[in-house]
Amino acid sequence: MQYYTDLSFIPAGAKGPWATYLEQVDRVAPYLGKLERWIETLKRPKRCLVVDIPIEMDDGTVAHFEGYRVQHNTSRGPGKGGVRFHQSVSLPEVMALAAWMTIKNAAVNMPYGGAKGGVRVDPAKLSRKELERLTRRYTSEISIMIGPNLDIPAPDVNTDAQIMAWMMDTFSANIGHTVTGVVTGKAIALGGSHGRRDATGRGVYVVTARAAQRHGIALDGARFALQGFGNVGSAAARNLYAHGAKLVAVQDATATLRNTRGIDPHALSEHAQRERGIRGFPGADVIGAEDFWEQEVDFLIPAALEQQIDAKRATKIRAKLLIEAANGPTEPEADDVFAERGIIVVPDVIANAGGVIVSYFEWVQDFSSYFWSEQEINARLENSLSDAFRSVTQTAENHKVSLRTAAYIIACRRVLEARALRGLYP
Ligand code: NAD
Repeated sequence: MQYYTDLSFIPAGAKGPWATYLEQVDRVAPYLGKLERWIETLKRPKRCLVVDIPIEMDDGTVAHFEGYRVQHNTSRGPGKGGVRFHQSVSLPEVMALAAWMTIKNAAVNMPYGGAKGGVRVDPAKLSRKELERLTRRYTSEISIMIGPNLDIPAPDVNTDAQIMAWMMDTFSANIGHTVTGVVTGKAIALGGSHGRRDATGRGVYVVTARAAQRHGIALDGARFALQGFGNVGSAAARNLYAHGAKLVAVQDATATLRNTRGIDPHALSEHAQRERGIRGFPGADVIGAEDFWEQEVDFLIPAALEQQIDAKRATKIRAKLLIEAANGPTEPEADDVFAERGIIVVPDVIANAGGVIVSYFEWVQDFSSYFWSEQEINARLENSLSDAFRSVTQTAENHKVSLRTAAYIIACRRVLEARALRGLYP
């Protein structure tokens, strides 16, 4: 009998982040026991919304943009995941990013499912007013799918606290009262949480420190290379620098720089904010984009976009630990090369989970309108991530698998156990 159970909107055999995610799930199947019965749940998104976003441009013309919100899974709670504004955003990419949120939230035991959104736009080409109109119309279009108990967006690539403020305001205006908990990553003045802006980068530092300790690498004096110097990358660099580590190479969309004596991330942050990128920073030399991957370092930290490291690049990399601050930077074939070469990969679903953990704290604070201090937030973040890292390393040792497969074992079991307990309706 032919049941037509494939996804019509994803071409069979298509490469890309969604295919990477599916392969990561397949690698976990042997460890799921009876729960494997439910594995198909993980291989298809629960809901996908594609919207048209028409806005009036400053010159009076009308432009249309494509927007998405995907809820990959809601077995363990409401959807949770960022919103990305980027010219290469597509439905399969948002599906993969939503699925990684399902895995991440379960791996660090947040009471959420996984979701993600995005708009196919290069925001650098819009004026501030156009960006605001785009954000508001996008929010209005996806408002049937979001809400504090339904799905809670947050910042991702090219979105920030201002975009979250416009989203919160639009949602609140449409519903008739202020709903602070509809998004996280807001400014403190709007019910945001202390520590949220730098939380993902701080979390990257926390897991790097734990992994370094486990592999006998002293953080003080360790050398690291960083791809991506935005919200996550710059905060990770500043936190690592504060603990004595040295940034020796950095790449963003504008340039690739190296200084073997170390680059001051505070000075680089100021430059990058002023110049909208690291290009022209005086404290380092320009090197070729491909040379970035060959630097001899203790930690290599991709903190930009997915699909940066294929098998070919993996053979060139000379790092002891790969810390995935970005979502999905490593292809499955590259994972195999790293395993052969003894390079440890700390997977995205743990390495960059600091953001969603503090988003959870923000959400809880908004519900109760009772706010915690920054010290409290940072201490709870460190505890949550250290616990998650400990259980992932323990599971990896028990099953003799990579940290990624271990994180997926923990996460997929949690999601599928919830699925099995809830049963099927009707
Ligand atoms: P951001 O927009 O603040 O920064 C993105 C950085 O990547 C910029 O420095 C940009 O120049 C660089 N970049 C873009 N294209 C590049 C290319 N082709 N080559 C090299 N560099 C390039 O975004 P962000 O919020 O820092 O997110 C970075 C990554 O971290 C993404 O994978 C995102 O999904 C992930 N992440 C973000 C958060 C968060 O809280 N913001 C949480 C978890 C994971």
